[in-house]
Amino acid sequence: MMLNLSTIRTVLFDMDGVVYRGKTLLPGVREMMEFCDQQGIGYACITNNSSRTPQQFEQKLEKMGIALPSSHIISSAQATGYYARATYPRHTPVYVIGMDGLREALFGDGYFVSDEQHPDLVVVGVDMQVTYEALKTGCLAIRRGAHFIASNTDRAFPSEEGLMPGAGALVAFIQAATDVEPFVVGKPQPTMFRVAMEVCGGCPETTLMVGDRLETDMAGAHHAGLRSVLVLTGVTRREQVETSPYPPDTVFDGLPELLAEWKQALAGG
Ligand SMILES: [Mg+2]
Repeated sequence: MMLNLSTIRTVLFDMDGVVYRGKTLLPGVREMMEFCDQQGIGYACITNNSSRTPQQFEQKLEKMGIALPSSHIISSAQATGYYARATYPRHTPVYVIGMDGLREALFGDGYFVSDEQHPDLVVVGVDMQVTYEALKTGCLAIRRGAHFIASNTDRAFPSEEGLMPGAGALVAFIQAATDVEPFVVGKPQPTMFRVAMEVCGGCPETTLMVGDRLETDMAGAHHAGLRSVLVLTGVTRREQVETSPYPPDTVFDGLPELLAEWKQALAGG
């Protein structure tokens, strides 16, 4: 199906490789957000990174010169919080392996109760202070019947030191030790996309996912029924698109090229 940009009312942007790369803002970000504001197009930035709170992401973007309110930022931690609230009753005891982002999303408003001894739910995200003891506690609870939720299953993420173990590595540890598969919230599963659409008031038919990865962003857009644009400012090269099981609707070099095409579509040509 051809992508008609003039029908799009909501946009979800991946962050790393679309909005910034490392500590550098990518071209066209500011112009794209201004365009969405002017056109009344709802938008959010979505990321599998569960370590930071939305406020911490807001500060990171502010340092790069982008004023994006935290309400426009949805991480897999937040999406996990939304999903868990919609699925489990208030005061459900929860055991979390994770950092600020995930802890705040679950415990920040007191909806869930932190409980190491008898949790009904074990929630796992990336945790750079994780210990055998913490993993053991999670595994034993799951063996006793607690539900297992993963913020995401990214096995590794890039850093200046090289590829670091991600949430998916911890999830794999627990899965291996319990023989239980988690419910996964982040990309490429559809839950985070659904949460982001709900926050923006969008629906799948008129929502566009803009991302740089085929196996998470484009696969996730496909699973959630969204339209998709791949930008080449991140990890994917144009020639990889042809062999992907989840090809995007359209490929652009970057956000400036997408914006130019979008303006033209709205002008009727
Ligand atoms: Mg990315």
